Amino acid sequence: MPETYKEPAPYHKGEDNPFESMMIRFDKAAEMINLDEGVYNYLKLPVKQVIVSIPVQLDNGKVVAFEGYRVIHNNALGPSKGGVRYAPDVDLDEVKALAAWMTWKCAIANLPFGGAKGGVKCDPSKLSMSELEKITRRYAANLLEIFGPDTDIPAPDMNTNEQVMAWIMDTYSMHQRKTVTGVVTGKPLIIGGSRGRREATGRGVMMATMAALEKKGVKPDNTNVAVQGFGNVGSVSADLLSEKGCKIVAVSDISGGYYNSDGIDIKKAVEYVKSNKTLENGKFGDKITNKELLEVKCDILVPAAKEDQITSENAPKIKARLIVEGANGPTAADADQILTDKGIMVIPDILANSGGVIVSYFEWVQNRLGYFWDETDINNRLNRMMNEAFENVFITALNHETTLRIGAYIYAIEKVANALKLRGIYS
Ligand code: NAD
Repeated sequence: MPETYKEPAPYHKGEDNPFESMMIRFDKAAEMINLDEGVYNYLKLPVKQVIVSIPVQLDNGKVVAFEGYRVIHNNALGPSKGGVRYAPDVDLDEVKALAAWMTWKCAIANLPFGGAKGGVKCDPSKLSMSELEKITRRYAANLLEIFGPDTDIPAPDMNTNEQVMAWIMDTYSMHQRKTVTGVVTGKPLIIGGSRGRREATGRGVMMATMAALEKKGVKPDNTNVAVQGFGNVGSVSADLLSEKGCKIVAVSDISGGYYNSDGIDIKKAVEYVKSNKTLENGKFGDKITNKELLEVKCDILVPAAKEDQITSENAPKIKARLIVEGANGPTAADADQILTDKGIMVIPDILANSGGVIVSYFEWVQNRLGYFWDETDINNRLNRMMNEAFENVFITALNHETTLRIGAYIYAIEKVANALKLRGIYS
């Protein structure tokens, strides 16, 4: 090997590695239930990992090859389900972790789905609409054998949206010579999307918070809430929690945050962000940093921005009594024990933010039925499924004398393991 050769540094390291972070919790839960070694080995490895090259001619005439991924972690419970993210730093490790989280999330929500995730390594902020469309269509075309309403169903994730889903649906449909709406969820309403999908994750966060408060015997109007992230999940969570009577004392986004002990008018903040893109210069209270937001005096903390925000470093300084994980993986594995020792209840991501995939499931069902439900119907069904999932996790955690996070993993692993045992190993 030439001396100049250097192993490329892995992008995610140590506490930041999402796959390791997931495996630490998985291992703990597996040990607690004495998971059969064969099933453990089976579940540790994704069923399928695909890397595709996406050659695209940019607007300036140059041809560039992007790298795309799709990982199916498990499909014992049904076709796999999971979003596609576009980001410059997305890698196979990250997609593998997110795919596994989807397996557990779908199992906890009692959906007939396995887990998957996809990604394209690209910077959407530097791409035109036409370049994004080309990338999306080639990505979908390269994965024609993987995607399908009965096999693997993508959805939006970071930097992908309804438009991207519409392009995937159209590309797949062109090859099938018929319109197949059920191949993706998170589509625009007019081409088979579901009512209530946009608000579903935040609504689920609110419902999970209400269920936890009820267990604690605390009324929402006696609570102060801090929300990190003011995008789809954060803003809807904050809005619906304030409608339930909670006082939102802190909000933040990429531009920084605000603290106001009198409470922040969330509807005003939502309007402000609609016209100004971020909360910057919104004068909603005293300026604070995102780091400070996590440590403000409040009863409920909703991290709804990105992963690894609560770490072993700042966990000792958190004052909230309840953390509701709107984001995926906002708590590093090293922080779990610190939060438990402080007596903080954590509703884990795989339960708290499952409202999105639950309404995605409704979208898929409606596409198959060819009959669409109204929003009240959607929200009532979501409420029923979120409460059922919360109760199942709560009871599992009680029975095993463990946290809600490990309880959630145990519930999910046992369910998938049972399905695997019933189906048997085809070899
Ligand atoms: P989004 O892009 O709509 O919003 C993200 C928000 O976080 C923005 O307000 C952004 O400014 C803010 N942000 C970014 N970096 C930040 C930082 N360093 N500190 C503070 N704020 C920061 O994304 P979203 O759809 O709301 O997703 C947020 C999280 O929820 C992600 O972890 C995502 O995987 C997870 N999630 C989303 C859904 C969904 O349906 N949208 C479902 C399940 C989980």
